[in-house]
Order: sequence, then structure tokens, then C-alpha cells
Amino acid sequence: MNKKDYYEVLGVSKSATQDEIKRAFRKLAKQYHPDVNKEPGAEEKFKEIGEAYAVLSDEKKRQQYDQFGHAAFEQGSAGGFGGGFSGFDDIDLSSIFGDLFGGGFSSFGGFGRSGASRKDRPTKGNDSLVRMNLTFEEAVFGCDKSLRLDLDEECRNCHGKGGFDEQTCSSCGGRGRVISQQQTMFGVFQTETTCPHCKGKGKSFKTTCSECRGKGHIVKNKEIVVKVPEGVDTGNKIRISGKGSAGYNGGPNGDIYIEFNVKEHPLYQRDEEDIYLEVPLTITEAVLGCKKEIPTLYGNVILDIKEGTQNGEKLKLRNKGVKVPNTRRIGDMFVIIKIITPKKLDRTQKKLFKELEATNLANSIEFKNFEKYL
Ligand SMILES: [Zn+2]
Ligand SMILES: [Zn+2]
Repeated sequence: MNKKDYYEVLGVSKSATQDEIKRAFRKLAKQYHPDVNKEPGAEEKFKEIGEAYAVLSDEKKRQQYDQFGHAAFEQGSAGGFGGGFSGFDDIDLSSIFGDLFGGGFSSFGGFGRSGASRKDRPTKGNDSLVRMNLTFEEAVFGCDKSLRLDLDEECRNCHGKGGFDEQTCSSCGGRGRVISQQQTMFGVFQTETTCPHCKGKGKSFKTTCSECRGKGHIVKNKEIVVKVPEGVDTGNKIRISGKGSAGYNGGPNGDIYIEFNVKEHPLYQRDEEDIYLEVPLTITEAVLGCKKEIPTLYGNVILDIKEGTQNGEKLKLRNKGVKVPNTRRIGDMFVIIKIITPKKLDRTQKKLFKELEATNLANSIEFKNFEKYL
């Protein structure tokens, strides 16, 4: 069936505000209410209006509609984080018409809600998002790390059903809906609402399961072991498929998303796959050159510091950085030279520095254009 555009149905523009949508809906709903409008087609039109309003008045559903059109609300599509939107059974129509007609909506049979309700359909379990703290090394090298989280599990006592001895609901006779009479601005209405006893299922249990109190699920604090891949960084997420909360009515389990937060290292600074390390040198080490032992992620290495090394100089150590996840690439390590000027000298050292000064050291240094401006 070709469905009409929801914006067209309500006669509003795609950029309409919630106020404009509400106003348009109220006007049309009053005009086409089947208890008021007896013209052929009024009822169909009324349903169309309700359906359009149900989607456009909900920002999230509206967004999905704008993106995917009517396909957004067909089964098995456009599932988002935390369980998808699964069609009109999710919309409580009585609440939409409630503010118009004072509770419930008229007895023309409801929209879309025929037969099995949401509670009988296989539905995927909820997704979980967990933040995990990692040390610098755990993130760089990967690790197996366990964490505890609350997950829904199917109740073993009732096998997820929520009760025992299912029978037709006596309140609604299995219809899932009940009719009541109501005085409104248009006169007396027969209004139909979801059966409060069976919540629309049309069936109820003789005995409610005491273990899960009828929910069919129980929450269990579970330990899961997460395989943290090599090279992850703060903000990176992984998905553990199908290990989340149990589904309903045979539906699949939800997923677990892990988001990492990596602690800073006292020495190493990480910039994606590269590592920066500041290496302190004494004046003499820098002037005369030396062999300097430094730590890297893969053990100590001896660095060859050349004669006359400058403060701030950057040396590159190839492939001593972090592995890029899911690739074979490894970053580099950058050593930044930091020459430390001594603050306290003993008598001998001071004497040597003074002697050094007397050699007119400035002559052996290029000051560039500095002196020109003195
Ligand atoms: Zn149970
Ligand atoms: Zn019932």
C-alpha cells in the first residue's frame, strides 16, 4: 500500500514546529472524528491523521521518518542504540487522543494494533554501554579484562513467560481492549482503551511467576571478559555482539558496547599511534654528545646523542610507537631533548664554568642576527 506523506496528511511543511503540528492535528482530528463526521472515508482519514501525528509529534520518530520515510517504521528496520523502534504498537494512541477527547479514542477499532501485541513478538534484548578504564599499557598492548555489569536474563522459573497457566483475559474476553462510555464536548462517546488487566495481550496467567514478578526477565550481575585489542585509545568503542541482555520471546540477545578511557602515562605522551618522550640532558651531555639510555614501550634503548645537540631537538625512533588497531601499522616514538641547566653547583663546578666563560664561549655560538639589533 502506498502511504501518504505524513506532512501532507497534516498539511504542514517539513520544517513545521511542534506547535504547528499540534495545531494542525487538533483541527483535522476534530473535523474527521468518526463520531462527528459520518461521510464515507472520514474514518480512514482520521486514522491517517492520528498515525501522522504519532510520528511527527515525537522528535525521535520524526527524525527517523525524515531520514527513512515510511520504511523507518516497517519491521526490522532502523533499529537504534538501545533497541529499535518497532512500529505503531509502540505508540500509545490513547495518550495522543487523550488530550483531545478526554481519554481513550473512539470505537472504530484502533490502528495497526490487531492480533499479536508487542509482548508476543520476538524482540532483541537491550543493548548496554559500559565505560572501561584502562592503564596506558593495557591500551597499548591489549589485554583481557573482566568487568561486572547488570544484564537481563530469561527467568528460569517461567522460561521467560512471566507466569503459568495462560488463559483468555476475563476482563476483555481476549480482545485486549475494553470499551467505556465517556461524556465529551461532542456528546457521549464510546471509547476503547487497552485492557488494563492484560495490558492488551488478551491473555493473562492464572499464576504470576514469583521469581520475576511476571516480567519474564531477571536482572543478574554478570562478569564478562573483554578482549581489549592492541592500540585502543580513549573514546574508542568495541561491540560485543549478542552477549548483552536476553531477548524476548526467543528474540536475540542485545549487544554490549564498551567505551575505553585510557589513563595518562607519567612519562609517555600519546598522539594516536605516536609516542612522545621528553629526555633530559645535562649541558655537558648536550655539548659533548653521549650515549643515553632511554625507556621505550618495547624496552630500553641506547640513544646516540650527537655533539652540540640543541634544546627541543626532536629525534625519531621508527616503529617504537603504538600499533594501530586492526592494521599492521605501528607508530613512531619521538624523543624531545630537554637540556637542564644546573641550579646548584659545587665550588669545583662553578670554577670550571667560570673558566669556560673566560674562553669567550659566545664566539663559538652563532647568534644569527641577534647582535645587529643590540
Ligand atoms: Zn519468571
Ligand atoms: Zn484483558
